[in-house]
Amino acid sequence: MNTPNSSVSRVRQLERHVFDLTSLLTAGRALHNILNPDKLYEVLVAIVAEKLEAGPLALFMYDEQKPACRLVRTHLLPEATAPGFTFPIEEGLLWQNVLQYDPFPVQSASGEPLFERFFKSHHLQQFQSALWVPLFLKDQFIGLLTLGRRADRPYDDMDLDFLKQFAATAASSINMCHLYVRRNAEKDELSRTLRNLSMLYNISRAMTHISDLKQLLGYILEQAIGVANAQKGSIMLFNAESALLEVQVIQGLEDKDVQQKINSGEFACRTFKPGEGVAGQVYATGQPVILNKIDENDQFVSASSSFVDSIVCIPMKVHGEVIGVINVTNKQDQSIFSDEDVNLLAAIADQAAVAINKAQLWELSVTDSLTGLHIRRYLLARLNDELLRSRRFGHSLSVVMCDIDHFKKVNDTYGHDSGDQVLRAVAKSLRTAARAIDHVARYGGEEFILLLVETDKRSALQAADRLRELVAATTVPGLPPVTLSLGVATFPEDGPELETLVRKADSALYHAKEAGRNRVAGYRETPARPEPHPPIRTSP
Ligand code: GH3
Ligand code: MG
Ligand code: MG
Repeated sequence: MNTPNSSVSRVRQLERHVFDLTSLLTAGRALHNILNPDKLYEVLVAIVAEKLEAGPLALFMYDEQKPACRLVRTHLLPEATAPGFTFPIEEGLLWQNVLQYDPFPVQSASGEPLFERFFKSHHLQQFQSALWVPLFLKDQFIGLLTLGRRADRPYDDMDLDFLKQFAATAASSINMCHLYVRRNAEKDELSRTLRNLSMLYNISRAMTHISDLKQLLGYILEQAIGVANAQKGSIMLFNAESALLEVQVIQGLEDKDVQQKINSGEFACRTFKPGEGVAGQVYATGQPVILNKIDENDQFVSASSSFVDSIVCIPMKVHGEVIGVINVTNKQDQSIFSDEDVNLLAAIADQAAVAINKAQLWELSVTDSLTGLHIRRYLLARLNDELLRSRRFGHSLSVVMCDIDHFKKVNDTYGHDSGDQVLRAVAKSLRTAARAIDHVARYGGEEFILLLVETDKRSALQAADRLRELVAATTVPGLPPVTLSLGVATFPEDGPELETLVRKADSALYHAKEAGRNRVAGYRETPARPEPHPPIRTSP
């Protein structure tokens, strides 16, 4: 029979039911729109706290990898509760309860702990939980919400019912949010992979087009520093003669003057024996090394000129043999180098090694072994290029032909080896005196040729005279100084063609010799000396 009291309580119950359902709907809507996990955890806990006027709350997410429950959010719990706290999933009564899907008490009505041993051994008392609410997505456990005792009244069946429904809604929102995050991460990963692939492709294409070794090394290093978002870097190549790793290019130094001097070979950097320091170790083992946040204990050998906080050193191999290493140091944003950095740098290093090897072979084939200067064939190819450029831009271009005076005497008096030493010294003087943009080559025997770009006849005559003076002042211990005779021809006035310019520079040289040697002569329309050289081949 329905008493007035029971009908009032029935109405109250119905009212609460409607309220609970409304709360669930509102909660569901609120949670479904959140795509950031941390925000979702925060709102989820706030809803339960508000709706149930609950005491302390803790939300744990299940980590399949461990497997363990990881704390992600708390409410009304001491600050000290460590973020990132975890406790393991274990066989036993507690887990059997969890696997029932429904909220269940972990304390008796009087507040006695029901799973004391487990709680104690995993420090779970700090969460003061009285009720556990498992979160399931279908039959998959994804997390756990724990509720502490409520000061004024215990949780009743309707609370439990609400929590059960809420847990289902929360679980599906969490799942959606995680799927969204994962999809975004995959999208990021994919676009990063695509970006890296296209970057590697561009680098490899560029490398095949650069045959000048210095230029190639500069390009490779620039790419490596850029890819790793590093501040500085260097490339070291192994010199088989000295059996040392030698710095070839360096970039990113604060002191640009020092950097330029190192790159031009004027300053020598510290060298490394195989096995010595990070670079030596990478050379010897063929394995990359990452050192993040270097301290004095590390094997890194520091240079006073350059502060190194973190370094990645990657070997460059050709047919399994290490030919050198790429070093990049210090992240731009002070972060640390990652495995992904190493993978990308290794991909660059693989391509770089092949390109460097090719460039080295090319250098070898166009370099004169005695003087280290380029050979005639190489210079004539450059002369062709420079003539095209000069024509296009309307610049002058001068060719200087040089021949050592009375060189036979040096050989005859001091021997052929001494003659070789003189040739090397003269070559060095010519190379250091010429500008970086000019070309210097050994034309043959004791003859040299220079291309002075963007230089008219007057300036070329002055430059040639400076060279003459410099060589006259060059001495080799134990040997008398030698002198040079030089002949100059200039584009465009002395001719448009490579062959003509070389022939006329040679003819001017002949006049310098005739006029007494140790002097410079510009080409003038006078009868040329009979063809002094075999026909010039213009292809490299
Ligand atoms: P001139 O002033 O007329 O040039 O007299 P010269 O003695 O220099 O005469 P010439 O240019 O004809 O002689 C070149 C000599 O250079 C002949 C050759 O023995 C020498 N020579 C050529 N190549 C080398 C080399 O690689 N090493 C050495 N030691 N001598 C060389
Ligand atoms: Mg000669
Ligand atoms: Mg000579």
